[in-house]
Order: sequence, then structure tokens, then C-alpha cells
Amino acid sequence: MQRIFKTRDQEPRIKSIEQRVKNKEQRAKNKEQRAKNKEYGPRNTKRLTINAEHRTQNTEHRTQNTEHKTQNTEHGTRNAEHGTRNTEHGTQNTKHGTRNTEHGTQNTERRTGTRNTKRRTQNTEHRTRNAKLQTMTTTQRYKNILSWFNENVPIAETELMYTDPFGLLVAVILSAQCTDKRVNIITPALLADFPTPEVMAVTTPEVIFEYIRSVTYPNSKARHLVGMAKKLVTDFGGKVPDDTDMLQTLPGVGRKTANVIASVVFHKPAMAVDTHVFRISERLGLTTGSKNPLQTELELIKHIPKKLIPKAHHWLILHGRYICVARKPKCEECGLREWCRYYAGKLIG
Ligand code: SF4
Repeated sequence: MQRIFKTRDQEPRIKSIEQRVKNKEQRAKNKEQRAKNKEYGPRNTKRLTINAEHRTQNTEHRTQNTEHKTQNTEHGTRNAEHGTRNTEHGTQNTKHGTRNTEHGTQNTERRTGTRNTKRRTQNTEHRTRNAKLQTMTTTQRYKNILSWFNENVPIAETELMYTDPFGLLVAVILSAQCTDKRVNIITPALLADFPTPEVMAVTTPEVIFEYIRSVTYPNSKARHLVGMAKKLVTDFGGKVPDDTDMLQTLPGVGRKTANVIASVVFHKPAMAVDTHVFRISERLGLTTGSKNPLQTELELIKHIPKKLIPKAHHWLILHGRYICVARKPKCEECGLREWCRYYAGKLIG
């Protein structure tokens, strides 16, 4: 028991001694550190100052870099602008070069009289042509134009697709102020479901409208088709008549449509005058000052041989559709220049 007491008394004392030793060592270390601090203090201050200076310099460098970058961007933009301007100048110089060459050629032609000779030759040609055109009788003009067509366009047919007279009648009614191409897209489905006047007569315009909605004036054309089919059944035994007057009693059938049917289906000497035939007849000089399609029709059938009338109708339509187009006739491609009144007028102008 006594031994245990002794040990208990000694333990705190030993700890205290150990603590004192540790404190002493710590104090020595602190002292050492303080000495070092004292020694390093000025050096650290110096370093801090140097670091601060470096930081300031770095900031300045960064600012300078940013400025340089901005300047570089500006220079890049300016260079790009100069590049564009140089390209433009290059193009202009090329143009000027070409123009100068042209002027040089023209001047040479002027000096050597080539140009005058060319002009004189052209004028002579124009005069000859005009003289020919002036002295050309209407009969000669018709003869020349028709024989050109006969030679160069041996096949001339309607571009509307059809299998029987009723199909063509439907297609022609639909083609009023609409293209043949569009009509040809519509008619197969329409005629597959309504192949005869009898079948079409018992339907309604509303049903037909759904088939033809993409043509021009679909509402009135749908009414005309049903009305036409009904009249064919009631008045003509379901057959398309070959007489133009009878044809014109059908709803949606005017003089032009009647003439197309009479000419294409029944090969009658009927001349259908549409916008192309009307325009090209005047330009060529086949008619003079015609005021309406009827005048043009009467003038054309007066001069065109009967057996050629059905074909002549297609010649004129196709020529007007593809060569002698409304806005800018392709005279340079046209084989009828020699006899064309419009072309002669252009040369004089
Ligand atoms: S010469 Fe010109 S204007 Fe005359 S028919 Fe030909 S395309 Fe038309």
C-alpha cells in the first residue's frame, strides 16, 4: 500500500518536470526563431518589396499585352479591309483592262474603217431584208412561214394527255388559263374515277372540286365539268359532238375549246386562237392590228390551206410557248426571222 502512495505522489511531479523541460526547449526554439526572424525580417521585407514590384510589373505587362492584342486585332481588321479593297481594285483594274482592250479594238476598227465596213454591211443586209419584207405579199409570208414549219416541225400535236374525245374535252376545259403540265397531273385520277359523261353527270361539283383543286378557277371548272357531262348525256346521247356550234352549247366550252376539239379530235379545219396564237400571228405579220381572237382566227383560216389548219394551230402554239415567248422572244434562236415583221422592226429600231 505504501508503495502505491509513493508512486502516485511522484507522477504529477515527474510530469511537471517534463513539462518544464519541454517549455524550456520551446523557449529556446522561440528564441532561436526570434533571432532568425530578426535576421530574416529585413530580408523578408526586401523580398516582399521585390515581390510587390514584380507584381506591379506583371500587371503592367498584362496591361501592355492586352493593348498589344487590341492593336493586333485592329491591324488584322485593317489588313482584311486592305485585302478586300485590293481585291476590288484588282477586279476594277481587270475591268478597265478589258474595257481598254475593247476601246483599243474599236479604235483600230475606226482607224482602219473596219467598223464602218461592218456597219455598212449590216445596214445593207437590213435594207435588203426590209425591202424584201416590204415587198413581200401576205400570201408569200404565209407560204414561207408555213413551209418553214412544215420542214422544221413535222410533228406538232397537243401536249394535253387524253385517250378519248371526252377525256380531251375535260382536259381542254381544265386548261383554260392553266398550264398543260398541271392539267396532265390532274386528269389521270379524275378520268379514272369519272371515265364517261354518264358517270360524271351523276356526281356533284363538290366531289369534282377535290380532284381539280390545284388548277386555276377550280370552283367554276368543277361546275362546268358536271354541267357539261349532264348536257352530253341529255342532249347528245353521251357523245362529244363534232360541230363547233353544238360544242359551244356545253357549259365551260367557248369558241376556242370547241375549235380545239373539232380540230384535234375530228380533224376539222378549225383554228383555235389562244394567247400564243394571237401574239405570234401579230408578231410574224400573219395578222395586222387584230383586236380580238375571232379576228385573228378569221384572218388565219383565210390564208392557211384547210388541210394544214389543224397542224398550223399547234405550230403556232408551240412556237409561241417555247421560242416566241411573251416577254422576251428568243429571236436569235428563231428560224422565222427572215419573214418576221417584229424582228425587222427590231433591226430598224
Ligand atoms: S423572230 Fe422573234 S419575234 Fe419573230 S417569230 Fe421569231 S421569236 Fe418571234
